[in-house]
Amino acid sequence: MPQQINNFIDGQWIPSRSRSPLPSVNPATEELLAHAWNSDAQDVDVAVLAAQAAYNSWRLMPAPRRGEILFQVAHLLTERKQEISRLMTSEMGKVLTEAQGDVQEAIDMAYYMAGEGRRLMGYTAPVEMPNKFGMALRDSVGVVGLITPWNFPIAVPSWKMLPALIAGNTVIWKPGEDVPATAAAFVKVFEDAGLPAGVLNLVTGAGDTGAALVDHPGVRVISFTGSTTTGLGVYTRAAKLGKKVTLEMGGKNAIIVMDDANLSLAVDAINWSAFGTTGQRCTACSRLIVQRGIKPRLVEALVEKARSLKLGYGLEPDVEVGPLVNQRALDKVAGYMDVARDEGVRVLVGGGRPANMDKGFFFEPTLFDGVLAGMRVEQEEIFGPVLSIVEVESLDEAIQVSNSVPYGLSSSIFTENVNAAFRAMRDLTTGIVYINHGTTGAEIQFPFGGTRGTGNGMREAGQAGLDTYTEWKSVYVDFSGRLQRAQIDTGDALDQD
Ligand code: ADP
Repeated sequence: MPQQINNFIDGQWIPSRSRSPLPSVNPATEELLAHAWNSDAQDVDVAVLAAQAAYNSWRLMPAPRRGEILFQVAHLLTERKQEISRLMTSEMGKVLTEAQGDVQEAIDMAYYMAGEGRRLMGYTAPVEMPNKFGMALRDSVGVVGLITPWNFPIAVPSWKMLPALIAGNTVIWKPGEDVPATAAAFVKVFEDAGLPAGVLNLVTGAGDTGAALVDHPGVRVISFTGSTTTGLGVYTRAAKLGKKVTLEMGGKNAIIVMDDANLSLAVDAINWSAFGTTGQRCTACSRLIVQRGIKPRLVEALVEKARSLKLGYGLEPDVEVGPLVNQRALDKVAGYMDVARDEGVRVLVGGGRPANMDKGFFFEPTLFDGVLAGMRVEQEEIFGPVLSIVEVESLDEAIQVSNSVPYGLSSSIFTENVNAAFRAMRDLTTGIVYINHGTTGAEIQFPFGGTRGTGNGMREAGQAGLDTYTEWKSVYVDFSGRLQRAQIDTGDALDQD
């Protein structure tokens, strides 16, 4: 029996007023997994009212106490890791070990942000007058709206809601429409950890539900992860209402392999970065930029590896690559096979749906060779198990090709030459750079995000992740007990009595 997923508003699991259903389908079997609601603007409005009502007592709860609830979230999430990971695999298709990694990232984030309850560092600095004290504090903002995709159903929301909550904000979360059951399981953890009613609200739905959240005047901050087209639309609408916005959008991430690279390390990293999560990570490697000398050996090893990957339902133990998330994703990836043919690209392996699988949105791991910088398959985000191979002569050319895309999330270089490694570290213009490591695998204590079309200059995770959910408040305390005025001409502090 498919599960019924309700919204979670003001501490209650309630159906949407819209009564409009949102089915959730297992992408490996195409079976109906759950029914959620395609919530409307009225549901969003009720959630905003609940979040506004809960805000004052939540922001006034001492941050260390808020942190204790988040520690409890971390403990419960650890206890439920297997069950939530299995649900995630059945709902969006990534293989079980990757789903476990997804949940683990939220556990790590919960511990990290719970610890922030005893830090949330502001600073003091010397002030211009005697007997005066100055400090800058991080203050909460109010009600925040979170819009997330389906590809990291627990990790990406955790990067947003945990810093938002520890800083004293209340939250309305609109998860990806393909993953409502996983989202509800995550919210249940917060409920069971003792989060007060109204502090975290879940409103399921598709694009219109997200748009209602963006447009609601009671929501002060929007944090969005998803496609570039949608993200820029969200940015424009929110800007008109003067909202603070954080965007994480597309990527076209490259791994550079120099002639002196450790071949087996590179093969393993490229394979994992390109085909892990079926290529549906923001940080997935979709371009291999390879120096001419090593290319034949590297490509041969990659083809062999790609051919050997076992596709299937991610709950089966030996499966390495799951399906794409839905029919739309499958159609998009398949469409790029036509683009590649038109651009004269050679398909070395893959290029279609696997012959022996009649159910599920599966697509073969695919390698394109003979790709030139500037081609569509080299510039556009495909978001599937497709890797384009570009041959280069030199480090300079490799860096130039890597940087010449509309996105700037993640990049990587494989080399044993320390000078080349440092030059790449300096000159690659992405928000995340890896040396001798694939393009995926960010840790939550460092800023996550990208340059150019990937974002709007904000970052998630680490200390930088708090910036979205806090406002700086500067406080001056004059304890002189008398009139003091700075001398305007010289700027010197002058005690006038
Ligand atoms: P994808 O479909 O590839 O996940 P989207 O950018 O369409 O990428 O979706 C990311 C998130 O944004 C999802 O939760 C989706 O429902 C939401 N969304 C889609 N359209 C809008 C919109 N117009 N306004 C706000 N949120 C939206």
